[in-house]
Amino acid sequence: MIEMQFCIPHSAFILVSMIVLKGISKSYGSTPVLRDVTLTIDPGELVCITGKSGAGKSTLLHLLTGAEAVTKGGIEVDGVDLRAVPGPVMQLYRRRIGIVFQDYRLIGRLTVSENIAFPLQVCGLPDAEVDRRVGTLMKDLEIQRHARSFPHALSGGEKARTAIARAIVGKPMILLCDEPTGNVDPEASKNILDIFKRIHAQGTTVIIATHDAALVTALGARRIHIEDGRIVSDTPRAGAHYREHHVLDAEKLPAGGRKKVKVTAIGG
Ligand code: ADP
Repeated sequence: MIEMQFCIPHSAFILVSMIVLKGISKSYGSTPVLRDVTLTIDPGELVCITGKSGAGKSTLLHLLTGAEAVTKGGIEVDGVDLRAVPGPVMQLYRRRIGIVFQDYRLIGRLTVSENIAFPLQVCGLPDAEVDRRVGTLMKDLEIQRHARSFPHALSGGEKARTAIARAIVGKPMILLCDEPTGNVDPEASKNILDIFKRIHAQGTTVIIATHDAALVTALGARRIHIEDGRIVSDTPRAGAHYREHHVLDAEKLPAGGRKKVKVTAIGG
């Protein structure tokens, strides 16, 4: 059982985490990267953002963290436009998001247990509580024997599990992962996949940017495919009993996103 505890007080803004992207575009300079992206992600969904390298997957994740601002359109979390959120509340919002970066971004001078403990220490949790949570997570993710190792001594899979542990130790409502299996072998990849399933089963919204088709299939996740900055298809999770709905022109999507998009029920 993966332990998840809150590191900050609950707030209505943060607890539910319905994510709505309303016709967002993002450009760097004059170069458009995302174009008129409209979608809704329900609380607790497991979503894979797929597409070739350069399609705009990482940029989408950066926008969701608030690290980057949209050029056009708006991102709402539980009805609140991120652009309207004051700085201190934005900090709380960010603490409720766990992020697994493509290169993991583990802190080289800290051990595995210290890396995982770091976000809790920033929150000012008592040492005994930090030790308890970190110990439980390392056991759950089978990295406890590396507790005193430094990142340079870890395999790709161990680095990934350490990064995931650090991302979930503060009990995020949303977990964002950028190519989490990009640097791991198939066995480690399967292990990571099981971890995502468990995190999702506990109610966390999990959004994974990946070009790993096998990962998407094995997860049975909703798949949002991006080409050249546009959503070209949005396939419900396996077992949702809907036909794939191809979004040929994102501009024609109704406001409010996926829930109002026509899909064809085939059962269930
Ligand atoms: P993906 O994650 O699908 O590989 P990215 O979102 O990383 O795609 O990048 C999409 C495009 O945006 C690429 O052409 C990339 O070079 C460009 N890009 C990403 N970040 C920046 C940035 N900070 N400044 C300028 N261009 C960027």
